[in-house]
Amino acid sequence: MNEKCCELLKKVIQKEYHNIRLDDMFYNADEFYYQFKVDEQISEKDFNKLEKEIKKLDSNIYFKLLKISGVYYKGNANNEMITRIVGVAFSNQEELNKYLQFLEEAKERDHRKIGHDLDLFCFSDYVGAGLPLYTPRGTIVKDELQKEMEKLCRKYGFQKVSCPSLADISLFETSGHAGKFNEELFRVESPKGHKFVLKPVQCPHHTQIYASKIRSYKELPIRYMESDKQYRAELPGAVGGLSRVYAITVEDGHSFCRREQVKQEVINMCNLIKDFYTRMGLWDQYWVSLSVRDYNHPEKYIGSKEDWDLCEQILKEVSDELGLKAKKCEGEAALYGPKLDFMFKDALGRDIQIPTVQLDFAMPKRFGLFYIDENGEKQTPVMVHRAVLGSYERFLVLLLEQFKGVLPIWLSPVQVNIIPVSLKYHDDYCKKIQQILRDEDIRVEYDDSKEQMGKKIRHSNLMKNPITIIIGDKEKENNLISYRRLGEEKTDTLNIEEFIKFIKKEINKR
Ligand SMILES: [Zn+2]
Repeated sequence: MNEKCCELLKKVIQKEYHNIRLDDMFYNADEFYYQFKVDEQISEKDFNKLEKEIKKLDSNIYFKLLKISGVYYKGNANNEMITRIVGVAFSNQEELNKYLQFLEEAKERDHRKIGHDLDLFCFSDYVGAGLPLYTPRGTIVKDELQKEMEKLCRKYGFQKVSCPSLADISLFETSGHAGKFNEELFRVESPKGHKFVLKPVQCPHHTQIYASKIRSYKELPIRYMESDKQYRAELPGAVGGLSRVYAITVEDGHSFCRREQVKQEVINMCNLIKDFYTRMGLWDQYWVSLSVRDYNHPEKYIGSKEDWDLCEQILKEVSDELGLKAKKCEGEAALYGPKLDFMFKDALGRDIQIPTVQLDFAMPKRFGLFYIDENGEKQTPVMVHRAVLGSYERFLVLLLEQFKGVLPIWLSPVQVNIIPVSLKYHDDYCKKIQQILRDEDIRVEYDDSKEQMGKKIRHSNLMKNPITIIIGDKEKENNLISYRRLGEEKTDTLNIEEFIKFIKKEINKR
């Protein structure tokens, strides 16, 4: 189907526009592409007309033109820019309808739209693309996630550390990142002669906290965690939304352990991941990649073959023992070792990789890390890298798209929104309730705008406030609170003390 559509699109373009050149068409199982050089303006606004013309040539085809973009001729940046139109074809109307519905749904779920509508984050031309700014509401969500994450990680033996964003370049030369990711490093210089790198990862910094003391085998495993910004010089054209940015906030953790502890460490970290995603209601929709090296290109990695073999073996065993059914993906390993990557789906059904557990025999050696064993001998520890929540930005994409912006009450920027039936008669009592809930550390808002009550309720629902309180005469006279849950028409009424008990119980739910 894609082949036929592609040919018809070509025919129509050649008929409707003049002087088409440098053209080329191709297709695969999913989509078809036609690209060409044209002097006239052509945009997505013309799709309707083009689709009609194609239908005229053959009324039995079912397709949709998806997008138009500029690409380099033959994919070479030295060549001219040409126009590319992408479409998708189906074998019948029903399939096409299904797909159109899916597109509509995806648009509704797009985290950029949700993030804007719910006032969670924004971008500024002055600050620059790829540099998200969290608004007060978005910052609450991010901070609550961090608190939850850290509380859970402490249960698994992690201690929080804090490192600067800058480091001397020698740190990353030693770790190997400067060599491997040279193109992705932001270098910072000053007129006074400073030469720094903005950290692209936190592992090298953490090795130096480990190295600040002599460690005994009895202390191991030593586990550090940190949520902080990391910086990557992505291609300027590639940044967009929260999915790909220059500054990501990464929830990172490292364990330094003995060789015989590695397997148990990996198991603990996989359990930590499962624990967290179960709490978030996301554990039923993942698959796991056992990301191993590219066996044909060992030069792309650091560390010895024996260590790599052993690491891959350990991860395989863990996958089997925990029933993760990891799929082996060659060439997907990290610079220093293989990993287990947990993949989820975004609104368009694309994989997003978030949690990961990575084995690393190489970095401790490169930094000369050691501990003293039972016999008083120096031994090199193994480093296990892990991300549970991954980057807050990517995690928010997953969360917002999966739940269409409806966050659980503990994570919601506003937990309770108060609406008076009449601003004139109920203002005092609403303010009193607001203060009582504030004193109880509940995130509460009071809508004292001049709008009608019905409009305020609709707005409260649009902002996905989990609980909306409505105050009228009955409530004011009897010291009561009437409330609705998001998405429910039913109103319940409690006295103030009962309501506080109820809301606190709701907030504690995971
Ligand atoms: Zn790391």
